[in-house]
Amino acid sequence: MTGLRLEIDLGKIADNARSLVDRASAHGISITGVTKAMLGFPELARLMYESGIGVVGDSRIENIERIRGAGIDGPMLLVRTPLPSQIDRVVRSGVTSANAEVEVLAALATSARVAGRIHDVMLMVELGDLREGILPADLNDTVRIVLGLPQLRLTGIGANLACRSGVVPSDQNMGELGALVESVERTFGTRITTVSGGNSANLNWALGSHDTGRINDLRLGESIILGREPLQRRAIPGLHTDAVMLVAEVIESKRKPSKPWGLLGQNAFGETTELADEGEIWQTILAVGRQDTEPGDLRAPDDVAVLAASSDHLVTRTGIQMRPGDEIRFAPGYSALLRSMTSVFVSKDVCG
Ligand SMILES: *Cc1c(COP(=O)(O)O)cnc(C)c1O
Repeated sequence: MTGLRLEIDLGKIADNARSLVDRASAHGISITGVTKAMLGFPELARLMYESGIGVVGDSRIENIERIRGAGIDGPMLLVRTPLPSQIDRVVRSGVTSANAEVEVLAALATSARVAGRIHDVMLMVELGDLREGILPADLNDTVRIVLGLPQLRLTGIGANLACRSGVVPSDQNMGELGALVESVERTFGTRITTVSGGNSANLNWALGSHDTGRINDLRLGESIILGREPLQRRAIPGLHTDAVMLVAEVIESKRKPSKPWGLLGQNAFGETTELADEGEIWQTILAVGRQDTEPGDLRAPDDVAVLAASSDHLVTRTGIQMRPGDEIRFAPGYSALLRSMTSVFVSKDVCG
């Protein structure tokens, strides 16, 4: 394949998945593999199951339906709370759904009754990152409501940290999650099977040398696909960090001054730039822009520096002159990957 593309090496992603499954299982933790960064790509879901992942998760019902439509019927988790406009689709897809609103739970129960099904739910608890979740003080009331709805089965309690505010998973907040689970179990005489501690940002904590208590599941996407942990974006030792690469094509490469001339106002994106004069450079333009990726989140090869990006042009400094048609390979970070996956201009070239 040529042209602007994501090269996706499924073999490397499978290596990462297997390695994380092994490491987590040594701590009594199972993995829910999250496919949303690749739009519920069915082959990704399939390889996750084949790598020892028991549950595949995604944030969007569209992606879950894509996976189901490919004939994959393993256990799945909808990691974002169901949209009121999509309740019936959520129930029909046979997933467990993450939940934080009583109204949504009631609608799920009604839909499940009409469909003659039981719907499994995981309740999300707020532990300080201030994204989704029931406040700890309200958890028992919500559990009471769920247990009063015979079409719903409470199978898990979970939490999500780091995504919004960067709150770091710790003995304290994970201990609080475990204590809440035990309080629910004591109060209602029920057993919570899955205690889902969080996303890839939990790996450092979960694989540390301490007791992980009641936490027995993590929901991992970025670490499996990109081999990095999200708190510092450090490579996880032993994992591939080049399983997905963004390949772009050179359209112009010239010796040019590094400093613009003329009166300076805002650029196309409302930014004003103050560029130092570094003399003449090899300025190489690639046919990729903000419509296709998050330019600031691309890791360039050693002799290439990303200088600027507009909708369709990525301006780089290269060590040598390049020719139109030459290609440069970048390692996308998480937001660059999300944007490239959703761009219709970026082909997805799957191998391995
Ligand atoms: C996206 C998401 C995940 C996976 O996060 P990664 O950082 O990709 O591991 C887990 N849980 C929830 C609720 C999410 O939205």
